[in-house]
Amino acid sequence: MRRTLFAEEHDQFRSSVRTFVEKEIVPSFLDWERAGIVPRDLFTTAGAAGFLGMDVPEAYGGGGVADFRFNLILGEELAYAGTGGAGLGLTLHNDICLPYFLSLCTEEQKQRWLPGICSGELITAIAMTEPGIGSDLGSMGSTALRDGDHYVVNGSKTFITNGINADLVITAVKTDPSLKHKGMSLVVLERGMTGFERGRNLEKIGLHSQDTAELFMTDVQVPVANLLGTEGQGFVHLVQNLPQERLSIAAAGVAAAEAALGWTLDYVRERTAFGQPVGSFQNSRFELATMRTEIDLGRVFVDRCVEALGAGELTAEEAAEAKWWCTELQKRVVDRCLQLHGGYGYMLEYPIARAYLDARITPIYGGTTEIMKEIVGRSLDL
Ligand SMILES: Cc1cc2nc3c(=O)[nH]c(=O)nc-3n(C[C@H](O)[C@H](O)[C@H](O)COP(=O)(O)OP(=O)(O)OC[C@H]3O[C@@H](n4cnc5c(N)ncnc54)[C@H](O)[C@@H]3O)c2cc1C
Repeated sequence: MRRTLFAEEHDQFRSSVRTFVEKEIVPSFLDWERAGIVPRDLFTTAGAAGFLGMDVPEAYGGGGVADFRFNLILGEELAYAGTGGAGLGLTLHNDICLPYFLSLCTEEQKQRWLPGICSGELITAIAMTEPGIGSDLGSMGSTALRDGDHYVVNGSKTFITNGINADLVITAVKTDPSLKHKGMSLVVLERGMTGFERGRNLEKIGLHSQDTAELFMTDVQVPVANLLGTEGQGFVHLVQNLPQERLSIAAAGVAAAEAALGWTLDYVRERTAFGQPVGSFQNSRFELATMRTEIDLGRVFVDRCVEALGAGELTAEEAAEAKWWCTELQKRVVDRCLQLHGGYGYMLEYPIARAYLDARITPIYGGTTEIMKEIVGRSLDL
């Protein structure tokens, strides 16, 4: 189905992104998968090409166009090339972390951080999850207690995307540990602060080129000038920014499903069994037809959510619907596509095998399917 979301400038941008992915990511992708991390210069290369901070005002080194469709295109092209694992750090930087800086920074903070975020010299991460809590953010244990012009930060975080590479970590903490959500604030921890240490680059079943790390804070002296937004409003700031994060993950899910379907169609047209192409069995056709239909439906909903986001109308419930349904779609599609590859689908030399491993996390991170259904369910006046 023809998509009505894009204008000519988006098509041109897509073509530049495709060239960038083919030239700068695909040739090194397997090396990065083995290394468990992408090199930091992937960010500076992306920044120089104009693929970071597209929506940051030009005065701070950005592209000056607030239009999530550009972000969407970057995520889609990374998925189509089967390199979503290596690209996740870039999309996290643009789609998930940057909105906090754009909406919450003071003028001084904008001048200090935005140019580096746009050039890729300052890599960002967001740290909410702790070893003891994930979904239940109000129960977090990390604290930032005010001491003059500093906060003293203690605690630990885990599963943090870009955790090893990050220079600026938006960290959710309790500035008032006696309260739950109302005691939360966001502070920016910077590489090199005394007492701010990285733990292991965690071994995962998929997304191998994405560094996902533990972070430890021991009496870190964080200047009050690194408070992001308003003290005590951390949870509100998260709630305001999570819809875009969830839409980004949903859109990547649909794109990953589209890529998986494409590889599978190519495969089942070539592969024969019992004297005929595997794709010509009625079961294969029904499976492929079901997937084609579901992906088309998911894409229409995501595109509509992107329009709503642009108009400032995307609700938390709509973003939650998109997130759970599209990531469950991705999981279902890659599983069925792997099945249609037979034994070759289990071999990592086929992109479907990696896509299968990479897909498993998407209904979990950014808020689990269960939590997304809670958000939608709460709006139903039950
Ligand atoms: C690869 C990867 C990257 C990640 N990146 C980041 C990152 O950059 N920053 C960050 O802060 N975090 C990150 N996370 C953490 C991720 O967001 C959490 O794992 C996720 O939110 C779930 O939290 P949890 O693991 O503590 O699970 P839990 O909250 O312990 O949940 C366990 C199970 O219980 C269910 N459950 C919990 N509460 C309810 C409820 N009320 N009703 C029904 N079921 C419920 C959950 O749905 C889940 O099935 C990442 C995780 C991974 C694996």
